Amino acid sequence: MTEPVSRALPARARIVVIGGGVGGSSVAYHLALAGERDVVVLDRHELTSGSTFHSAGLVGQLRSDPTLTAMNRYSVELYRSLQAGDNPPGWVECGSIRLASSKERWEEISRQAGWAATSGLELQQISASEAQELFPLMVTDGVVGAAYLPTDGQVDPSQLTYSLAAGARAMGVQFHTHTRVLGIDTEGAGLRRRVTRVRTDKGDVECELVVDCGGMFAAEIARMVGVRVPIVPMSHQYVVTEAMFEHRETPLPSLRDPDLLVYYRQEVDGLVMGGYERQSLPWTASASSYDRIPADFNGRLLSPDHDRFVEISENAVVRVPSIADVGIRSFINGPEAFTPDNEFCLGPTDVGGFFVAAGFCAHGIAGAGGIGKVMAEWVLEGAPPMDLWHMDVRRFGQSYRSPSYTLARTVENYESYYDIRYPAHERTAGRPLRTSPAYSWHAAHGASFGEKSGWERVNHYDPNAVDADEQWRPDGWAGRHWSPAVVAEHRATREGVVMFDETSFAKIEVSGPDAARLLQWVCDNDVARGPGTVTYTQALNASGGIECDFTVTQLDAQVFLIVTGTAFANHDAAWIRTQARHLEADVRITDVTGAWACFGIWGPKTREVLAALTPQSLENDDFPFLAMRETTVGDVPVRMVRVTFVGELGWELYCPAEYGANLWRTVWEAGGSHGIVAGGYRAIDSLRLEKGYRVWGADIDPAHSPYEAGLGFCVRLGKEGGFLGRDALVAQKEAGVTQRLACLVLDGTKAVALGNEPVRLPDGDVLGRITSGGLGYSLGASIAFVYLPVGRDGGTDLTADGTRLQVGIFGEWVGATVRTDPLYDPRSERVRA
Ligand SMILES: Cc1cc2nc3c(=O)[nH]c(=O)nc-3n(C[C@H](O)[C@H](O)[C@H](O)COP(=O)(O)OP(=O)(O)OC[C@H]3O[C@@H](n4cnc5c(N)ncnc54)[C@H](O)[C@@H]3O)c2cc1C
Repeated sequence: MTEPVSRALPARARIVVIGGGVGGSSVAYHLALAGERDVVVLDRHELTSGSTFHSAGLVGQLRSDPTLTAMNRYSVELYRSLQAGDNPPGWVECGSIRLASSKERWEEISRQAGWAATSGLELQQISASEAQELFPLMVTDGVVGAAYLPTDGQVDPSQLTYSLAAGARAMGVQFHTHTRVLGIDTEGAGLRRRVTRVRTDKGDVECELVVDCGGMFAAEIARMVGVRVPIVPMSHQYVVTEAMFEHRETPLPSLRDPDLLVYYRQEVDGLVMGGYERQSLPWTASASSYDRIPADFNGRLLSPDHDRFVEISENAVVRVPSIADVGIRSFINGPEAFTPDNEFCLGPTDVGGFFVAAGFCAHGIAGAGGIGKVMAEWVLEGAPPMDLWHMDVRRFGQSYRSPSYTLARTVENYESYYDIRYPAHERTAGRPLRTSPAYSWHAAHGASFGEKSGWERVNHYDPNAVDADEQWRPDGWAGRHWSPAVVAEHRATREGVVMFDETSFAKIEVSGPDAARLLQWVCDNDVARGPGTVTYTQALNASGGIECDFTVTQLDAQVFLIVTGTAFANHDAAWIRTQARHLEADVRITDVTGAWACFGIWGPKTREVLAALTPQSLENDDFPFLAMRETTVGDVPVRMVRVTFVGELGWELYCPAEYGANLWRTVWEAGGSHGIVAGGYRAIDSLRLEKGYRVWGADIDPAHSPYEAGLGFCVRLGKEGGFLGRDALVAQKEAGVTQRLACLVLDGTKAVALGNEPVRLPDGDVLGRITSGGLGYSLGASIAFVYLPVGRDGGTDLTADGTRLQVGIFGEWVGATVRTDPLYDPRSERVRA
């Protein structure tokens, strides 16, 4: 295949794609496929001359996340179809084997087999000797079993890029190589700032949209418009061996042995062998500087780092001993863009029209097809075809502007690439970073901290543990990072009073003349009911899917405070900003998370504790559920908000951060005579499961509407002026929903669903996957949620109370019953007590 011929750079194009690696070529191909032909791809050197040309080319589909699995499945379909066309990418559907060399790894594979079932992937669990039959070079010592995916494969990364580029070009896309982007112009300020022009060493291109597909250079390109893309180029190595076997009629499957940190694939008559070493080496980026990739680093490799490869090569010999007997044909050391959480950086940014598709963490070849497809839709339609928040470049907070923090988090991720990710496992790099004013108190009182979005958050307090509660410890992985303290904290919330530090909750202030107009358009509920009102609401996309889920407190005629999950500050603010841009609303949208401490005080005795500290009447007539009052608690000025995420009477107390330590201490001391307990997030999760409160990103997401999620009570179809997504909801209401989120109670309390487990009718086909699950200690139940088909057109309503189902937990099918939701206090009498 030849390099697409460059013509003179056009003065104008609707879309400019920067980067002619596999990412940029796939994005361009899919834009054209979707009908957008006014696209120009620019590369500062040749196509593939970034990371793409030195890739190992393995294409695996199964990931822990169903979205990425779906994207990679699409990649395989695409590569298969391209292989049958005029520009084959060298696709070989050789299958893949993932070995389990430990009991825990076998459990992981069993869990993955469950995920695969929910994705329709044909994953087979095979024995060690079956794995050896498929890959005869391996020895079976220590192998417990393996996962075999026959539709995985390998592709030639450069050929794939040229194949996509040829397809794009045939549809009208222009490719201009040796054209270096030097700058990107924008016009407008604040919400109205947009890209207008790309400046290159060959001239300028006026444009409406720019897609930064710069791979490890993406951060440098994004800095041209002041956008931060936290990518670290990491050195990544593999070798190609000399001949190890005779010609084979059928290619060897690729082989991964994560316990030994290595992977292998066939390369003609030898093997490609590489891995993820424990002592990684970031390339060019440092703790005090960003990426700084040399301007002439194209089509180049790094020098082999033999010392760093010793661990990988020694491990490789353990599984494939004959590799020790052959020489090395080539040693590849190439840099690749890694991110702090091992997820891609995709989507729009705060600069209108500037999109990113980069940071592929050594699975960009496997992902390219899917990435191109979702990006094309995102760029052209304004929304991706599925929930991509965990890959959305906007997920990274301010802390990732810091090179040292970005580096520490990225290095930790790289070095634990193949580690088993146990649920509730906490990362350690870069901690502590963001702390509540009561942090020292928590630490002094035995808090076990977790981390989210850089915040230190109390999971539970060790001293609360009671030995007798050990009986609740779940089997298997769910029991690993579990503490009996959670049971005590849960129980105390139901029976007494517990204080929770929720300072990390994201807080977004929306103010200005158009604040009410904007939020009424964004929210499905009526959120502008006057100062002092609090409204639980969702923000929907045009299809009626739930983009955000939060409470809105109206503080003043033109000032609203949104409180949302710790991890969603950027996401929700970005969603609201996007809508503000469409409406041309005169508003200010400010993240005020760190300015306010927030403590949730909940439980039937809460009123007794707080009444002694505040002049504000806490009686229902004066302070009803979903109201806010400005008052004082002890010496501290507070906003008291009557809401709950645990299903009990109580308030959230917000105060300026500098008062936080005092407020916490004040409530703690006043609560002493009432037996107050301090609790953590694990207890909150258990309490909310019983009460059926949904979590965005797990139980609710952009693919499901409020009606499907059981949140129809928030929808105000008759609201004056309507709201975004209303038309879709009206249509759905008329037609009736086809699925609904159902609450399951599993048999017994030892088996606990962790998320993504398959659900089926007894011995039937898989119907769906668990969205979230856990133990409810008051009800003594293992609870989980799943979307199930409802009985339409004479079909059986599987969401009906009493339906018997099975949940696949680590390969075992556990019985479960659908129960009417919520399980706890269905009339919310305790909340309104
Ligand atoms: C050793 C190694 C092994 C790997 N093995 C695998 C594997 O087995 N499977 C897998 O799925 N993935 C693998 N990967 C990862 C995969 O190769 C990458 O994820 C993928 O190639 C990245 O593609 P990209 O298009 O994002 O970036 P790149 O290929 O780096 O393309 C970016 C392009 O942007 C251009 N550019 C940069 N700045 C400018 C500018 N200012 N103006 C114009 N153009 C610019 C560059 O010239 C470059 O061509 C491996 C990576 C490495 C390093």
